[in-house]
Amino acid sequence: MIELVNAEQLAKATDRAKAGNLFVQPTTLPRQYRVTNRDNGNQYVVDFFVRNGKRYGHCSCKGGERNLACKHLSAAAGFHVMRMAAQREAQRVAQMPQAA
Ligand SMILES: [Zn+2]
Repeated sequence: MIELVNAEQLAKATDRAKAGNLFVQPTTLPRQYRVTNRDNGNQYVVDFFVRNGKRYGHCSCKGGERNLACKHLSAAAGFHVMRMAAQREAQRVAQMPQAA
């Protein structure tokens, strides 16, 4: 697993993710994603979790096993951040006072 500190850490992997033909899908578990490489059909599972207030990510690929920020982790992180932001926004809207 790798500790997620900032966006720059994933910037290079993000470039590779854009260049690659990766497809990210949420699984039935929270914070878990399945990343499919459409070029070769390989699938990897990416997990995000928080431990002692620090954020971590893990990918099931060979790079992930060696604690590298791989392109799958990066692709899933982009998806995860957007999803969390959308959930927060939905909660904010739900808590708005009703217009009379
Ligand atoms: Zn990976």
